Amino acid sequence: MANYKNIESALIHGGISTDKFTGAVNVPIYQTSTYQQTGLGEEPKWEYSRTGNPTRAALEALIAELEGGKAGFAFGSGMAAITAVLSLFESGDKVLISSNVYGGTFRVLDKVFSNFNIGYSIEDTTDLAALESKITPEVKAILVESPANPLLTVTDLAAVAALAKKHGILSIVDNTFMTPYLQRPIELGADIVVHSATKYLGGHSDVVAGLVVVNDDALAQKLAFIQNSTGGVPGPFDSFLLIRGIKTLGVRLDRHVENAEKAAEYLQNHRAVKKVYYPGLPDAQGYEINKRQAKNGGAMISFELYENYNIKKFFKALRLVALAESLGGVESLVCHPASMTHAAIPYEVRQRIGITDGLIRLSVGIESIDDILADLDQAIAESEE
Ligand SMILES: *Cc1c(COP(=O)(O)O)cnc(C)c1O
Repeated sequence: MANYKNIESALIHGGISTDKFTGAVNVPIYQTSTYQQTGLGEEPKWEYSRTGNPTRAALEALIAELEGGKAGFAFGSGMAAITAVLSLFESGDKVLISSNVYGGTFRVLDKVFSNFNIGYSIEDTTDLAALESKITPEVKAILVESPANPLLTVTDLAAVAALAKKHGILSIVDNTFMTPYLQRPIELGADIVVHSATKYLGGHSDVVAGLVVVNDDALAQKLAFIQNSTGGVPGPFDSFLLIRGIKTLGVRLDRHVENAEKAAEYLQNHRAVKKVYYPGLPDAQGYEINKRQAKNGGAMISFELYENYNIKKFFKALRLVALAESLGGVESLVCHPASMTHAAIPYEVRQRIGITDGLIRLSVGIESIDDILADLDQAIAESEE
């Protein structure tokens, strides 16, 4: 039994946290592809590192514990994790996805799984009645993000999970933006949680990885089979980096969120800013639902400047906040969803779901908030026309 009760401690001591051979307080990096076997037909615990590796196994046990699920699986990227989950489906099946789901999730369904006759449709998952009306016999799962990327749209995760259960289909939550420190979808009834661990879990913009957690033995068996068969696993060193990153997730996120709350308020009161999207603002879409299902509003903000501000100039003028894909690292990053993270989504679809050309997405880092706001302020001033 664990000698702690709270997630702050589980982040540090969860899963398999020490080395039983030496007492080392960190799990060693088992940099090996294979393991010597004791004899023919004697079932080895470890046989080949695609199938299993002790460093990866420690990470998998850790994420399963943090999300409150039965089993965890690690992958070489968030997209490899999502691909493994989508590999649960068969030709003729269909998945409903939230509008403004991550661009890569849309792309793999639209351009890869479509070749295997696995369909998808983009739905407004905030409208439960409309969502239920789309559950036809071929629909096998609902995949949602909350808050969703990049408009920070909040979906009621417990309600979607209940809807999925009622129809005997799976509910899948991409929990990248919140992490188990702020939101635990399995406790809300979700069947599968996926992560781009590249983001907050790793937290330092130095590793690309993905994680999956399931809460059912049969699903765990299927995913273990898919993981070993398709082979999109992370190496031992990346697994170690993630375990190391997760230890500080709590303190990092506390600071990320503190900064984000201040940045959202600052932007909302700025004369150049037309609209701010942040689930922690009381007038945000889904504010009450988010408050119920998550610890707070997280640390991602999107905003639009008025038309007399030139966003190209804004991005050029930034000196501290970096223009980059990705999010969730200690450094503040800003991106232009329409041409970067969501460029894979056709222009007409982007317009329909609100990803306008003027939208700016900000991943608020843990630098001094005064320095972050000063940089935004001078860049906004530079961009006025
Ligand atoms: C980045 C991201 C992904 C993809 O993860 P990679 O690690 O880049 O493959 C999936 N979902 C969300 C919400 C993301 O932000």
